[in-house]
Amino acid sequence: MIPCTVADLEAADLDLLVIGGGIVGAGVALDAVTRGLRVGLVEADDWGGGRSGHTGTLVHGGLVDLPRIGVGAVAALRRERDLLLDRTAPHLVRRVPMLLPFHRGLPERLAVGAGLSVYDAAAFSFRQPGVLPGHRQLTRRAVRRLAPSLAMTDITGAAQFYEGQVDDARLTITVVRTAASYGTLALARTAVRRLLTVDGRVVGAELTDAAGASATVGARAVVLATGTELSRLLPGAQLGPDAPAGPDAPAGPGAPAEPGAESASGAGPTPDGRLAAPIAETVHLVLPRGRLRSSTGLVLRSDGRGEARALYVVPWGRHWIVGSTAAWVDPEQLLAELSRHLERPIGSESVESAYASPAPMGPDMGRAPSIHQPMPGLVLVRGSSLAGYRADAERAVDAAVLQLGGLHPRSVTHRVPLLGADGFNARWNQRHLLARQAGIPVLRMEHLLQRYGTETAVLVAAIEERPELREPLSGAEDYLVAEVWYAVAYEDATRLSDLLARRTRITRETWDGGVKAAPEVARLMAAELGWDPARRTAEIDGFVERAIAGRWQP
Ligand SMILES: Cc1cc2nc3c(=O)[nH]c(=O)nc-3n(C[C@H](O)[C@H](O)[C@H](O)COP(=O)(O)OP(=O)(O)OC[C@H]3O[C@@H](n4cnc5c(N)ncnc54)[C@H](O)[C@@H]3O)c2cc1C
Repeated sequence: MIPCTVADLEAADLDLLVIGGGIVGAGVALDAVTRGLRVGLVEADDWGGGRSGHTGTLVHGGLVDLPRIGVGAVAALRRERDLLLDRTAPHLVRRVPMLLPFHRGLPERLAVGAGLSVYDAAAFSFRQPGVLPGHRQLTRRAVRRLAPSLAMTDITGAAQFYEGQVDDARLTITVVRTAASYGTLALARTAVRRLLTVDGRVVGAELTDAAGASATVGARAVVLATGTELSRLLPGAQLGPDAPAGPDAPAGPGAPAEPGAESASGAGPTPDGRLAAPIAETVHLVLPRGRLRSSTGLVLRSDGRGEARALYVVPWGRHWIVGSTAAWVDPEQLLAELSRHLERPIGSESVESAYASPAPMGPDMGRAPSIHQPMPGLVLVRGSSLAGYRADAERAVDAAVLQLGGLHPRSVTHRVPLLGADGFNARWNQRHLLARQAGIPVLRMEHLLQRYGTETAVLVAAIEERPELREPLSGAEDYLVAEVWYAVAYEDATRLSDLLARRTRITRETWDGGVKAAPEVARLMAAELGWDPARRTAEIDGFVERAIAGRWQP
């Protein structure tokens, strides 16, 4: 990624300043820059450090939300999901089979079948065949064969359907990098303190970078894509007790992150074997794949607290991710709820890690995105889902373009492949050959292609030049040393936590939360970034301290 500083942003003559480097802000930057606007993008933490790096990883077409959001919204979401799978991010988004068991015999089978048929039909409403196969109904026997761990007591059959799945933080950094490749000035670890206004119009923002340097950045329009922090930056917003309110008062989520600081709380097994409760509201669990026997993901209905909810169990490499459509505060409760559906309950000792989103799921989950223009020069956008980010961004930029006089072209992002997507299918077909040429096992090549797409060529070229990069990473052998090098050189990883938690997902995929891998990764990062011994020690100590406290967020 082209390095950018606050001074670059200050000197730039920006059409649009985008605040918030989650999936929506990244999408807005990409949409705007590919329409010909001069764009700046700032993020207070790391790219994807907010909700976008802590999702359940499903790129869903809105099935669970069908009754709430209606067929039209579901059709639009499915179209976006299929675009990602087929055209813009086939290297990152892959299909995942999901199984929805029936418990009440024929009436339920008919009702759910009808809902799923509507869901399938929604894919065809745009006169294009669906990218994923339609649903099919399964007998009780087939359910037992596909998911032997399920308690079969009252299961009468199931529906099988397909969704997309993605490494959410990787999708976010890839959208940011794609936007940067078209000229967006993108700067992480830089918090916007307040919006600047002249005669009631927003004309830019005041921001502070990781080193504490402040700058005033002018822009003809500003898009706020700060997720749950949306309203806090509005002039006149009610601030926290220690911050003075008023139009000119500094606002925002606080100081930019310290090196290695985390934006989210987490949860993990404590020394007594119980799972520590997260501070934030919605938790996901990570289990070893072997602990739950199933060759498909699961959607399990769970009624309680007066609301219908669904648990989802999604395959994630050699692991499962367990989440819910409703907020679960307590990981133990989530585990107990999952166990209710299984032949053998799963104890907390089987949980590899748990992660919590820094913000609750919120009532907007799965709903249409909200776009507001509270004052001239300002657009607020709140996204709906991973699948919907591109369309949400398009609508936000449409609104911003109107504020700029309406002369810019329409969105083209439905035809802009993300970095690594162009030519991916051919490279995937050549993976055996590529693996032989690179001198690595085919499984490794598949791992690289599904994370970097055609950018894998950059890693392979580096491996050829520096054979030590071919080695598995000590403490997290699923990854290669080359991936640490690449994350630092190309993906704006500047802190140990950026690398262990988001460029890789080592924190959630290892029993120790990345503690074992931390010293080696820090050594490699120090060599690339020129850290002195004190900085290296501080990075490791800070990371390990949080991991051991059980408050680590993967
Ligand atoms: C528990 C949970 C599970 C979910 N699971 C799924 C799922 O499986 N599939 C799905 O499609 N969706 C899921 N979602 C929804 C999804 O996470 C959101 O729709 C999406 O991430 C929203 O992206 P965003 O960019 O709007 O917000 P965020 O990712 O939160 O980004 C906002 C960014 O703004 C930054 N920011 C805030 N203030 C400032 C400031 N002053 N200056 C600079 N930057 C600032 C923050 O640091 C943050 O990175 C889930 C949500 C939750 C909470």
